Amino acid sequence: MPRETIRTMCPMNCHPTLCGMTVTVQDGSLVSIEGDETNPDSQGFLCMRGKAAHEIIGNPGRLLGPLIRAKRGSPDWTPTSWDDALDTIATRMQAVGPKAVGFWQGHGNAANDYGFGLKRAQMERFANLYGCQFWDPAMICWGLGAFGAGLTGAVETSTKEDLSAHSEMIILWGANTVSQASTLKHVEIAKRRGARIVVVDVRRTEASALADEVILLRPGSDTALALAMMHVIVADRRWDADFVDQHTLGFSALKEHLQTMTPQWAEALTGVTAERIVGLARSYAAIRPAMIVIGGSSLHKGGNTYEAARAIACLPALTGNFGKPGGGLGPRHGGRSHGAGFASQAAAERRVPGDYVPNQLEAIVEALETGAVKVLFAIGSNLLSSFPDTNRLRAALAKANLVVAYDIFSNQTIREAADIVLPGTIWLEEIGAKATNTYVHLSDRAMTPAGDSRPV
Ligand code: SF4
Repeated sequence: MPRETIRTMCPMNCHPTLCGMTVTVQDGSLVSIEGDETNPDSQGFLCMRGKAAHEIIGNPGRLLGPLIRAKRGSPDWTPTSWDDALDTIATRMQAVGPKAVGFWQGHGNAANDYGFGLKRAQMERFANLYGCQFWDPAMICWGLGAFGAGLTGAVETSTKEDLSAHSEMIILWGANTVSQASTLKHVEIAKRRGARIVVVDVRRTEASALADEVILLRPGSDTALALAMMHVIVADRRWDADFVDQHTLGFSALKEHLQTMTPQWAEALTGVTAERIVGLARSYAAIRPAMIVIGGSSLHKGGNTYEAARAIACLPALTGNFGKPGGGLGPRHGGRSHGAGFASQAAAERRVPGDYVPNQLEAIVEALETGAVKVLFAIGSNLLSSFPDTNRLRAALAKANLVVAYDIFSNQTIREAADIVLPGTIWLEEIGAKATNTYVHLSDRAMTPAGDSRPV
């Protein structure tokens, strides 16, 4: 067969980066994986992880057929057919009833449809119509930042193209350019244009090389810095009164709340001198338009640290930066730009009524512990490595009647807790559809599925 080159996307999904790939195959075998020069976001860039993606193809560790075992933890897996595996699963689901069945999907389920969430929506559709539990992987990590920003009303992000064209000041707040490679180019363009770049982080990251100012603060103290900045802006009477009057709620309560949150108060918490906090607040209030790029996950790993995104998201409102070219909040992990939105197949309006276990790790583990959930699906998710208290989750999984894992490689959850394993296809073996911060990409299938693997 002739050589064929298709355009596809890196399956690692470093949102908002999402790099393009060109993949060449011949006679069903991979010839090369390269950065896609025509991809408008990544423009040919592939990091080391992306370049190493070829190791997935033909890897001897791939799961190539359904497996079943009689005893958890045993290395003695028995190959089975899809039909037998699905019959066994269906029988066990019927025995416990829909409410005792739960789907826990991980980011592996979005390797080929990030942004659209087609697979997630299909899983949710099944759960809605069947009346079983399902949970979203965004419950940990970046989802908390999105939760804080969303609570504040800052649901939409500005684009990297807007940043490079219009921003006069850019604050990279816990956002390292290494993990936002496609945004980095635009920060560089803005800098060449004369924009002021400030990095706020807990360590001197690679992004610091671009910065006019680097502010290093103690981990978990971002909320205090943002509140003290707002204290200064309000004390200086530098807030945008028109914007605040027309587009915000609760300013009086915020003003009251900020009274004790002085730069000196924040200095004790953040380790950043009061003088520097005042300087940052004044420059942010004075330089318009200013865009804040919040890091995907780093700010939101501690207890209640979604509050950091809440407080930071108030800053563009206070200064009237929202809705202005070059203002607002920059591209963020999981954040949608204005105008981006897709129809959902999830049929949420047809969800079978009932009490469901909330989308919260603690609640899910409790449901396993109490027996409220007895059949658990781990879809592209190594959940034992995702929950901080591994021993507790391991014990909870041991109580389940049936654990089914769908994945492309074995993992800790499969080895220790699964009863049935279903082999998944990789991104090159499926049609893909991805939405980045500014573009939509469709990818052809490049290879036939290996072994007996199937798309989810
Ligand atoms: S940054 Fe690297 S791993 Fe992430 S999408 Fe781009 S190439 Fe893939």
